Amino acid sequence: MKLQTIIESTQKINETVTLNGWVDTKRDHGKITFLDLRDRTGIVQCVFGGKMPDVTPESVLQITGLVKNRPEKMINTEMETGSIELEITDYTVVNKSSELPIPVNTDGREINEEMRLRYRYLDLRRERMRSIMKLRSDYTRAMREALHKRDFQEVETPILTKSTKEGSRDFVVPSRHHAGKFYALPQSPQQYKQLLMTAGVERYFQFARCIRDEDLRADRGYEHTQVDLEVSFVNREENMQLIEEIVVEAITAVGGKIKEVPFPRIDYQEAMEKYGADKFDMRTEEDKENGILAFAWVINFPFFKKVDSEDAAEVQDGKSGWTFTHNPFSSPLPEHLEWHLAGQNIEQILTTQYDLVCNGYEAGGGSIRAHDPAVLEATYRIMGYSEQETEENVGHMLEAFRLGTPPHGGIALGLDRHIMILAGESSLKEAIPFPMTSSGKTAVMDAPSALDPEQLEELHVSVIETDSEEA
Ligand code: ASP
Repeated sequence: MKLQTIIESTQKINETVTLNGWVDTKRDHGKITFLDLRDRTGIVQCVFGGKMPDVTPESVLQITGLVKNRPEKMINTEMETGSIELEITDYTVVNKSSELPIPVNTDGREINEEMRLRYRYLDLRRERMRSIMKLRSDYTRAMREALHKRDFQEVETPILTKSTKEGSRDFVVPSRHHAGKFYALPQSPQQYKQLLMTAGVERYFQFARCIRDEDLRADRGYEHTQVDLEVSFVNREENMQLIEEIVVEAITAVGGKIKEVPFPRIDYQEAMEKYGADKFDMRTEEDKENGILAFAWVINFPFFKKVDSEDAAEVQDGKSGWTFTHNPFSSPLPEHLEWHLAGQNIEQILTTQYDLVCNGYEAGGGSIRAHDPAVLEATYRIMGYSEQETEENVGHMLEAFRLGTPPHGGIALGLDRHIMILAGESSLKEAIPFPMTSSGKTAVMDAPSALDPEQLEELHVSVIETDSEEA
């Protein structure tokens, strides 16, 4: 038996087909029953000459039947399959569904978040979520194609690794083999992608999961996906142009409409004066109605800022009272290199950082990197690290920078953000298949959860009870 989809069945008039899918709706008309069967390709009306007492909404059915043209006045022009119906000759209830805990035939916005995430696999059945997930897959593919076309190579980097600072706390994983030692989950593949430049890859990309122990906010979870890139032998301008081309191509491929190309460039200082923030929305009301995406680059950020004493990660990073604004691995602007190396005029040193802004959100950020060990050493010196502390933290990078590292720079584009903006949604959770709840619990499964005492012992971990434990 050849598997057929609902959409294919529209081409099989007067033929018998077998379809698999879910019961979207069922209408009992006494002697006959109508049901709408749904699969990934569409919905088709099916008719059965009798009652179907064993068929409940959202059950999985296999139906065999004859594809018939509907009588003229029964044609539904709203549906792709609206000119046909299936006369059921045989059916099997493959999996009978109990009453669903949440409805799946609405847009879902009326359901509370906890229920939506607890039953995410049902939530993803709704039309709105199905089209967002499809968009995510299409965009990912368009991005990959745009990158491959420009000779980028996809490389995976480790998940169990050492801390790479992106300004957050690390998630740590205890080692069973090395008692009392811990891995850190990557806040980004920053260091590995730079080492790939030393390795001669020249053009790298990865759809990278980044894990950061952030204070949770509505628009932020512990993990996010980046389209992570790195390129050798480019200056800031060349790299921004290359990245822009890739973004424009991928966005356009999924039907996104961009306000202005080339993307406008704005100085950080100017953005702060004009918009009071380094992310801003340049759309008019009309642009908003038409779903336009307004991209812009923000450049010339300060390299360093004063440590915020409320921010634990900053306090840890900035021992001198100065910490990096974006990325400690960046290079300063060439004209500020001397200050940087000498640790002078720290507040005036600008970084090569470029942030991509879209519709008021940060859609990406990157920079030209330090590839000269003296520059990275100077960054850490300004942050108050002794030579020894610098060596402990980034000694492996300094070593690579003495073994033939080309000039390079890159970016990370926030994939979840891009999808959220493209879909016209305002919450990142709508763009992620299985997002965390706002209190940091996993969707569907119950994590974080306690470990067995034996497991803890194996990991050389003892848990200290505190009463500040969050509910
Ligand atoms: N690693 C940086 C981040 O995750 C992005 C970059 O500079 O490439 O924000």
